[in-house]
Amino acid sequence: MADHDVDLFVIGAGSGGVRAARIASGYGARVMIAEEFRVGGTCVIRGCVPKKLLVYASRFSAEFEDAAGYGWTVPEATFSWPTLIANKDREISRLEAAYTATLERYKVELVKCRAVLEDAYTVRLSTGARVRAETILIATGATPYHGAQIAGLEHVISSNEVFHIKQLPKRILIQGGGYIAVEFAGIFAGLGSEVTLVYRGENILRGFDDDVREHLRGEMQRRGIKIITKQIVAAIEKVDYGYDVELSDNEQVMADLVMFATGRKPNVHGLGLEAAGVKLGETGGIAVDAYSKTTAGNIYAVGDVTNRINLTPVAIREGHAFADTVFGSKPTKVDHADVPTAVFSEPEIGVVGLTEAQAHQKLAKLDIYKTSFRPMKATLSGRDTRIFMKLLVDGVTDRVVGCHVVGPDAGELIQVIGIAVKMGATKADFDATMAVHPTAAEELVTMREKSMSYDRAAAQ
Ligand SMILES: Cc1cc2nc3c(=O)[nH]c(=O)nc-3n(C[C@H](O)[C@H](O)[C@H](O)COP(=O)(O)OP(=O)(O)OC[C@H]3O[C@@H](n4cnc5c(N)ncnc54)[C@H](O)[C@@H]3O)c2cc1C
Repeated sequence: MADHDVDLFVIGAGSGGVRAARIASGYGARVMIAEEFRVGGTCVIRGCVPKKLLVYASRFSAEFEDAAGYGWTVPEATFSWPTLIANKDREISRLEAAYTATLERYKVELVKCRAVLEDAYTVRLSTGARVRAETILIATGATPYHGAQIAGLEHVISSNEVFHIKQLPKRILIQGGGYIAVEFAGIFAGLGSEVTLVYRGENILRGFDDDVREHLRGEMQRRGIKIITKQIVAAIEKVDYGYDVELSDNEQVMADLVMFATGRKPNVHGLGLEAAGVKLGETGGIAVDAYSKTTAGNIYAVGDVTNRINLTPVAIREGHAFADTVFGSKPTKVDHADVPTAVFSEPEIGVVGLTEAQAHQKLAKLDIYKTSFRPMKATLSGRDTRIFMKLLVDGVTDRVVGCHVVGPDAGELIQVIGIAVKMGATKADFDATMAVHPTAAEELVTMREKSMSYDRAAAQ
């Protein structure tokens, strides 16, 4: 078609949309991008980045405590939530400006409004304008989802609001068992709040390796976090002294703040998908092929709105691959296998590859190596904590198919282990690697004794 205003219209200036827009523009496409909230999207404005800043803040309390064993006398520390939030906000504004400047530098036209599809080639802006585009990319992300309607739901905040609460709650109840729930439980506990985590399932962090889930649960409880499983919040009543939260077994929990981190759903509502011929997949996200193409031939979708793997680096890769494919004459699929990931709980989690349950399903023979030990730093500090590490090895090929770490800096560690696993490193390769001493990570190359070995054929 020749009557289009732009070559590419991107809906949503988050991780995926911004990357796609600038790469496509670099290939010479005329690009327009719409953002209805703030440039940078969830990760920058109210996700990964501000969350990690809060995680850093929350870890000082343990550092102050641990310092005593190392000879330090630290005067009683005081903490100011408003100062933290103001400083965090300044940093987020700086990042937003940097993202906006990048779009300008790449000559991407930014329109700060909502955009929806009118048909497969027309985008309608909330300003009333219409833009004709040859290709459209939907990168609208996801949004917190509170689940069933219950009495008092209007009092509940989500991860969207938590970054701007006015004061640190003395008592917070967090409902949810996913990574956002456990991360905020750690943040608030570290900052001095009394934290209760309520989760409907058997154990927190569904989908993670069972040993990891159990280990983190124990460590969180050791840090004073109360974890209540197999319950849900049934009702919330505002009372003079906070919120009276009733659980499904009728237990009452008092809290000054109630946060739900009960999941996120793709931002597809009211986007005009039907009019454009864009269909949804089974998980509620926009259905796409390996090139992120939707059921409408000229419309693509990347990131959380597709509900594949909802992480920033994945959205960025998908956005980049889309631009390479459509505007760079380089058809590129994104490899979604062995994506390393971290949970910034306290302590941190880093994982890559299969869980033990998945490995059992997939492999004929499986060797398991695991260890749990007291970190060296905890000796003088006297802190009661342990690190957990686990390697899953294909018993036939010797390839390391899964690595799971719970302990300080596990996120940093797993980024590097991720390379080895992605390259197909074997247990023999791990063993041949010289240890770095004294570190916690050296355990990963010195685990010699199998904890368990399974042979499916022998078991049958
Ligand atoms: C609390 C929290 C912590 C997280 N921590 C991590 C982490 O540590 N590591 C990690 O990898 N991931 C993390 N994530 C996930 C990560 O933020 C997302 O995977 C990532 O932002 C997805 O990028 P995206 O481009 O798909 O969508 P987004 O970044 O959400 O961007 C979508 C953009 O589209 C805009 N938009 C939506 N609809 C329209 C419309 N109709 N018109 C115009 N604009 C629209 C939205 O305002 C938004 O800015 C976290 C998420 C949350 C909520």
